[in-house]
Amino acid sequence: RKIVIAIDGYSACGKSSTAKEVSNILGYRYIDTGAMYRAVTLYFLDHHVAMTNPKEVARALQDIHITFKISSKNKSETYLNGLNVEKPIRTMRVSEMVSPVSTIKEVRLAMVEQQRRLGKERGVVMDGRDIGTVVFPQAELKVFMTADLLTRAFRRQRELLEKNQMVDLDDVVDNILQRDKIDTTRKESPLRQAEDALVLDTTHVTLEEQVDEVVRLALA
Ligand code: C5P
Repeated sequence: RKIVIAIDGYSACGKSSTAKEVSNILGYRYIDTGAMYRAVTLYFLDHHVAMTNPKEVARALQDIHITFKISSKNKSETYLNGLNVEKPIRTMRVSEMVSPVSTIKEVRLAMVEQQRRLGKERGVVMDGRDIGTVVFPQAELKVFMTADLLTRAFRRQRELLEKNQMVDLDDVVDNILQRDKIDTTRKESPLRQAEDALVLDTTHVTLEEQVDEVVRLALA
């Protein structure tokens, strides 16, 4: 019996690291919905799309095609109009604009539609902010991840360092706080814990333990 696993939560709580591992263990497909909003943001920045102009936004959305491919290292990588954008979508340039872009109604409608299509074939782990509440309210397993702010910031800084991006801890903290604020207060599907979600606080938990817990819940 293959299910849909929805993983939501605040920024940099380890959602995607957990989701990736869980999908590997269960042989499920992993879908990083944050990467989709990041790809849209990259396109908007590179093409100077006026975010406040609905016509321009609609036209841009028609020209945006996001796909995922599994790399030779068995990693899911994001493609924007056929181009691998896995690196540029993780830069601070995109991180600083992605939450404002994610408040745009037309952007959300387009992404949610595509996410529902991707999740139709069962056996999928999807992570984001509105998966258990909006995209798949009928998901069999919903996990809501949290962690202390500093723990999240340290982990994210280390992750960026591993990708050769030097970022001040202050800037990482600011970015996390900024995104959480916009994500929880926006009008269109704000970040909320689904009523039937299980809360996973990862502050004092290793990635391995997080993964084990979600796998255990999925198989229960
Ligand atoms: O998951 P990640 O941190 O990469 O997501 C980047 C941003 O995309 C979030 O801060 C949020 O603004 C937006 N997002 C969203 N809905 C989702 C996934 C991400 O609004 N389902």
